[in-house]
Amino acid sequence: MTQNEWTELKFDRLNRITGVSSEKLVDKKICVYINEEAFSYYSNQVMTIVAVTILSKWCNNISVNVSDKLLFTHTHNKGQLLSAVLKRIVEDNDTFNNIGFNDSNFKPDCILSIGRLEFNSAIPVIYINSNGWIAGYGKNSFEVIGKTEDLNPIGASFSACLGNAALFKELMSIEQEETFWNMFDLHSNKKIASTSSYADIPFPDKLNIGNIVQIGCGAVGSSFDFILSLTNITGKLDLIDFDHVSIENLISSLTFLENDAKKQALKIDACERILKESKLNIYKHEGDYSSYIDAINYYNQYPDLILCLANERNIWSSIQHNYPPTVLHGTTTASWGLNVGRHFPLYDGCIVCRFGINSNNYVPICGSAVVEKQNEISEEKLGVLPFLSPATAVLIFAELIKLNMESVNLTKNFSEFSMKASVSADFVNSFFARRPTCPICTQQDSSLHYQLNSKSKYANLSPLIT
Ligand SMILES: [Zn+2]
Repeated sequence: MTQNEWTELKFDRLNRITGVSSEKLVDKKICVYINEEAFSYYSNQVMTIVAVTILSKWCNNISVNVSDKLLFTHTHNKGQLLSAVLKRIVEDNDTFNNIGFNDSNFKPDCILSIGRLEFNSAIPVIYINSNGWIAGYGKNSFEVIGKTEDLNPIGASFSACLGNAALFKELMSIEQEETFWNMFDLHSNKKIASTSSYADIPFPDKLNIGNIVQIGCGAVGSSFDFILSLTNITGKLDLIDFDHVSIENLISSLTFLENDAKKQALKIDACERILKESKLNIYKHEGDYSSYIDAINYYNQYPDLILCLANERNIWSSIQHNYPPTVLHGTTTASWGLNVGRHFPLYDGCIVCRFGINSNNYVPICGSAVVEKQNEISEEKLGVLPFLSPATAVLIFAELIKLNMESVNLTKNFSEFSMKASVSADFVNSFFARRPTCPICTQQDSSLHYQLNSKSKYANLSPLIT
């Protein structure tokens, strides 16, 4: 395959988004500056890994300004040289990527600064900074965020997604303000004006998340597993997906590598690989959710939580027909939007209340948003932005951690966020109630639901199941 053929396939879904064209990215160069002083902190190491991974999906020419002596001291890259890890990330994601280090002849179009930039720049600088639950990013403006030793990947990963979105807009000539700095608290899903308004909420130590069923290992699911791989979390994780990695999938997943597409690897195998150094017990099921239910003894191995990160084969009704425990879902909407939701049984709207019976009733999940339908042809054209599914995955991960902290907002169960806006970007949080007309949950035996779910780890969080 020639570079042109490869690039055309790789950017196929990106180019389906209105106002976006991969041709504008040709020959564009980004310099990644890593603040050495702050690099010893977990948050800066996570920002670096996640930001460079996303960047390697859509920018071919990257130069990194960093001391070649810096070592990773956290995450699964422990003990490895920063430069070696970044080189591997960039090259494994695309053979045609170029990465250099400390190249004084490199003339970037834009700088991504992880932490404070220690020199003045004549070209635009996108800054990212984070700690704990706080994600900050900006253009030509930077604020200090106090650092702790907390091993919380949430603020760091989200700022890496936001920073990529800002860089992408810059290179794609999509309008954004000349100077801004934004911070979000992902514990309450809201924008904050200063970190002093934020109580430093610790990340739970020695966390066991229980028996989790992850339905869908596509863009959102595989990116969720990548975030999980940066932690010491224990528990059992069942990975369910029938699909193989294709070139078109590479742009939107933190986990899928070029080689996965070339070998048409199973998505569950790619997810298992990213988690191989983790402390989780992984079980893989190649197939859809219905075949998983048939394959295991579902009611004896009743899960603690279901992550719905897929949209194929009427997944929503399959989940709800089987009396699910608490469900978290993550969705990307047309072009720049994303949302996450929680479904406590018998309390919140169920997943069918939310999406309907058939998957084609709603904008699909997994980074694939319907942006256009051809006149007489029913085939859907799917658009994808490289940072949207990773951002959705971070928010799903944050919801999972909040359940484990018993830090649950019973008046809100649905958060939406758009990555299109810059200065005005903020979460919209709401409550999605049960629908009296839902064809499934209104017909189910609530005492059976109560009985099954009361055994699950997260049951006591729901006001109706204690
Ligand atoms: Zn319902």
